[in-house]
Amino acid sequence: MGFVYEEAQLHCRQGQPEAIEIRIVPHGGIRGRCSLCQRPAAGYDRLPERRWPFVPLWGIPTWFRYAPRRVQCAEHGVVVEQIPWSEGKRPVTRAMMGFLARWGRRLSWRETAQVFQTSWESVYRSVEWFVQWGLTHRKLHEVESLGVGEIYWGHGLRADNFLTVIYQIDAPCRRLLWVGKRRSEATLRQGLKALGPEVVQGLRFVCSDMWKPYLKVIAAQAGQALHVLDRFHITTYLNQAVDQVRRAESTRLRAQSQQQAQQLKHMRWPLLRRGSRVRGRARQKLDALLASKLATARAWDLKETFAHFWSYKSVIWAEAFLDYWCYRAMRSRLEPMKKVARMLRDHEELLLNWFRAKGEVSNAAVEGLNNKIRVVTRRSCGFRTYEAMEIALYHTLGRLPEPESTHRFC
Ligand SMILES: [Zn+2]
Repeated sequence: MGFVYEEAQLHCRQGQPEAIEIRIVPHGGIRGRCSLCQRPAAGYDRLPERRWPFVPLWGIPTWFRYAPRRVQCAEHGVVVEQIPWSEGKRPVTRAMMGFLARWGRRLSWRETAQVFQTSWESVYRSVEWFVQWGLTHRKLHEVESLGVGEIYWGHGLRADNFLTVIYQIDAPCRRLLWVGKRRSEATLRQGLKALGPEVVQGLRFVCSDMWKPYLKVIAAQAGQALHVLDRFHITTYLNQAVDQVRRAESTRLRAQSQQQAQQLKHMRWPLLRRGSRVRGRARQKLDALLASKLATARAWDLKETFAHFWSYKSVIWAEAFLDYWCYRAMRSRLEPMKKVARMLRDHEELLLNWFRAKGEVSNAAVEGLNNKIRVVTRRSCGFRTYEAMEIALYHTLGRLPEPESTHRFC
């Protein structure tokens, strides 16, 4: 490599090891290389000695000490030599950045900083370098299915509190490909642009929810792909409608009869779960409620019936079921359910694509990744800025290739 360890010094304070310093010198007879073109060049002069934090050895903070040479490159003039453990102007060795970044995936960044006696900032910069390396070296040529979704983070309902995420949801590789602020057309366009036209034109399936800006951009840019609506979101819309009916009815009943109002008390969660999953006392209450003529019971029944839709094998039968269900919902006199029915009708073609995709698209994949993202964003107070959170998301969910390190310490 052209460098040798000259000596290692252990510094102690009151009998306790405090730091290890490893002095490095150029290998005699091997010329320095230009840091721009990596070609050997004639020596010019030496700069003052610098220190780079290295991976702690036996838990003791460890430093490299070296006085970089400047070389006279035929092409680039006088420049600092190439230093293999160093990355440009970054103050920490590559090995240390890789080390901190790998630990930063298992522990929080704050914990990582504490354990290895460095700063939060230093962990952040290390992860950032790691992620940037991964993003420039990742391969996207086998992406066939995309999942597009929105993630809520922060507080309140301002547009800034949403993220648009793009996943690869192919069975062999599920990962986060892109994340951006807001959930507008511009956001998604920006995301697809980042993936590049080759990826977008090569897509076979795209899965998203019914959010209009997404639908528009996907239709315009990936028209060749089969666009499938996300089953999870449709279930969410149905649940929200049931809940609206329940709340309105609950208010109405409390004004009239206490006994009937009791039937709706504490029923929010049993009503939102899949019927077959409600057991025990909650089941008894649910059965009693369903036997009543309450609007909530009818709304619940509609929601529960819709679950059959997903079990069809043939597009034709699924379509027939959808028509039947919407017809019933429209006659239910339950405004929230009618609203869902109108929405499903408006998106009938995309809904039926679920059956045309014949199980090639897994909504569970999108939901699983969404859940993992929420785990990371929930810790977002520890990230201080959006940029730091974005880096953390790519780091934990991007399945990025990692820079090779000559030393692997973890
Ligand atoms: Zn050069």
